[in-house]
Formats: sequence, C-alpha cells, structure tokens
Amino acid sequence: MKDDCIFCKLANGIIPTNSLYEDEKFKVILDANPATKGHALILPKEHADNIYDLPDDTAAEAFVLAKKLSAKMRDRLHADGFNIVQNNGEVAGQTVFHFHLHLIPRYADDGQVIGWKPGKPSAEELQKTAALLSE
Ligand code: AMP
Ligand code: ZN
Repeated sequence: MKDDCIFCKLANGIIPTNSLYEDEKFKVILDANPATKGHALILPKEHADNIYDLPDDTAAEAFVLAKKLSAKMRDRLHADGFNIVQNNGEVAGQTVFHFHLHLIPRYADDGQVIGWKPGKPSAEELQKTAALLSE
C-alpha cells in the first residue's frame, strides 16, 4: 500500500466507500463523479501506478471481473451498452495514479461522449506503424 494514495485507502478499507464487490485482490467501488448511473471502478488492492506496472495475473483477473460486472449492470441497471475505459498517464486522462478500470454502463439516452476523433492515415503510414510494432 502506498501511503499517499487515495485508491489504496479506498481499496483497502482505510476510507469507507460504496463497495459493489470485494475479494482478496480487488475492491469495486462507485465513481464519485459518474459518467452514467452505475459508473464503477475496479481497484486492485495492491498499488500499481498504471498498466505498465501491473502484474500479469492482476491484469487478467481484472478483465474477468469486468466481464462479470458488465453482465450484472446490463441485467440490474438495464444498461443498453457498456464501455470499459482505462487511462494511463496524464496525457491519456489519468488523474489518479493507482491502476483502475472504469466500468461505464451506457443508456440509449445518456448523452455521454466517450471516444476519439478518427484519423485518416495513408496505407503506407499504417504499414509503417504495423512494422514498428510487429518487430
Ligand atoms: P482517471 O481519470 O482515469 O484517473 O479516473 C479517476 C476517477 O476517479 C475519476 O472518474 C474520478 O471521478 C474518480 N475518483 C476520484 N476520487 C474518488 C473517490 N474518492 N471516490 C470515488 N471515485 C473517485
Ligand atoms: Zn495506490
């Protein structure tokens, strides 16, 4: 646990919060400033700043947990869709530097925008990028 980390404190029960799920490795809480009704955060109890630091088993288990909760949100909140968002680094929108997955139930009339501006690279540019990453 990192002393000055708010999500370490929430995940480990030092600060009480709304908990949707808990096991020995994770706590799932409601986001304090939700994008939509039910917006939740999967928090590993062990501190990692972001995805680069995350142990492989925690990464795998977090996604299985996201899958379970997506079905629960669909069924209990009658969500029409579901976004999983995970930000790494300030430039990518990370504001709390303890790894977390955002679970965002979506509703037909929720008015939210979660996405990006589509680019238009040439076939050559795409090929160069693929080559860079596949080496
Ligand atoms: P990110 O921008 O991906 O780092 O997301 C941080 C999220 O944490 C934001 O959606 C905040 O609303 C949420 N948040 C910050 N502090 C708290 C808190 N004390 N309890 C619940 N959610 C929080
Ligand atoms: Zn932490």
